[in-house]
Amino acid sequence: MLNIRYEKTTNPKPLPEKDNPLKFGTIFTDHMFAMNYEEGKGWFDPRVVPYQKISLEPSAMVFHYGQEMFEGLKAYKTDDGRTLLFRPNKNIERANRTNRRICIPEIDEEDFLQAIKAVVKMDEAWIPTKPGTSLYIRPFIIATDEFLGVRPSSTYLFMIILSPVGAYYPEGLNPVKIWIEDEYVRAVRGGIGEAKTGGNYVASLAAQMKAHEEGYSQVLWLDGVERKYIEEVGAMNIFFKINGTVVTPKLNGSILPGVTRDSVINLCKHWGLSVEERRISVDELLEAAKDGSLEEVWGTGTAAVISPVGHLRFEDTVLQIKDGGIGEISQKLYDTVTGIQLGRIEDPFGWTVEVQ
Ligand SMILES: *Cc1c(COP(=O)(O)O)cnc(C)c1O
Repeated sequence: MLNIRYEKTTNPKPLPEKDNPLKFGTIFTDHMFAMNYEEGKGWFDPRVVPYQKISLEPSAMVFHYGQEMFEGLKAYKTDDGRTLLFRPNKNIERANRTNRRICIPEIDEEDFLQAIKAVVKMDEAWIPTKPGTSLYIRPFIIATDEFLGVRPSSTYLFMIILSPVGAYYPEGLNPVKIWIEDEYVRAVRGGIGEAKTGGNYVASLAAQMKAHEEGYSQVLWLDGVERKYIEEVGAMNIFFKINGTVVTPKLNGSILPGVTRDSVINLCKHWGLSVEERRISVDELLEAAKDGSLEEVWGTGTAAVISPVGHLRFEDTVLQIKDGGIGEISQKLYDTVTGIQLGRIEDPFGWTVEVQ
C-alpha cells in the first residue's frame, strides 16, 4: 500500500467545452501522480499533485540514451456515473516486463494500480461522456541520473498524466489507408520491439512521414529479418479475416503484446470463430486479396480500439479490402469492446475494474 500525499490545485483549469470535439492527447487534467526512485531506497514519496512542469538537468540520462518506458490505458464513465478502467492489470504486468527489459526497477503491481486509481479519482470530473470519448491514462518512467555514461540510471521518476480524448483517427471508424513498408523496420527479435519504450517510436517516424507524403495514414511493418512477415500496423496490432478464420501475427519478440489484441482474440474465440496466431507473409496477404478470401483487415490498440483498414499498398500493388467499408467482425468487435468498457453490456471476462 502506498501512503499517497495529496496536494490539490488552487488554480483549476476549465473543463473542455462539451461542444468542441476532443482531439487525441492535447489537453491535460488538473493533477498528476508522481513518485521517485533511488537505489537502496526504492520507490518513495508517492504523491498526487497539480499537473506541472518538471525540472531536470540537461545531463539527465533519459535525454541521451532513451531509458524510459510508458503505458497507455483508459478510464470510462458509465451511464450511471461509475468510473471504469479496462484491464489495468494487463498494462501493469506489461509495464514491469518493459521495465525488466530496459533495466528500470519494477513497481509493485498493487501500488501501480493504487496510483492509477488515486489520480483518476482526483480528476474524475474530467472523464468525458460523449460517444467515442474517454480519459486516456499515460503512466511513464524516466531515468534521471545526471551522467553521460552508458549504464542503467540509479534514480527514476514515475509519473501518471491524464488526457480527455476523442477518436484517435479524425476519420473515426472509417477505414484507413495503410502503407506496407519495405525499406525501414520498426524492431527486430532480441531488440526492444515488445517493450513499450520510446526508442521503437522514434524508429518509426521516417516511415510514417513517407507514408503520409504518399497519402497513407499508417505504416504496416514487416519483420526485421526476412522483411516478409507482417508484424504490426503503426502503434497497433493487426488482424485479418481470411476465409472465415481470424488471423493475427504470433508474438515473436518484436511485436508489442497489445491488451486490445488479447481482448479481441478472447472475444473471437468466445463467439466460436476460429483464431490463428501464426506467421503471415505479405505474399499470402496479396494472394488472399487477389482470390477474394481476404474478408476484413483491422488494427487494435487502446487509442483507437478497432481501426478498420480499407486499402493497403505494397510497392506498386494496391489492395482494396472488399468495398472499402467497415467489416462485420470489425464493427461487432468495436461495439462489444466499447460496450464492455462503458459498462453497457455484460462483461463475461470480468475485464473492467471500478475506481471508487
Ligand atoms: C501500445 C501498442 C499497441 C497496442 O497495445 P494496446 O495494449 O492494445 O493498447 C500495439 N503496438 C504498439 C507498437 C504499441 O505501442
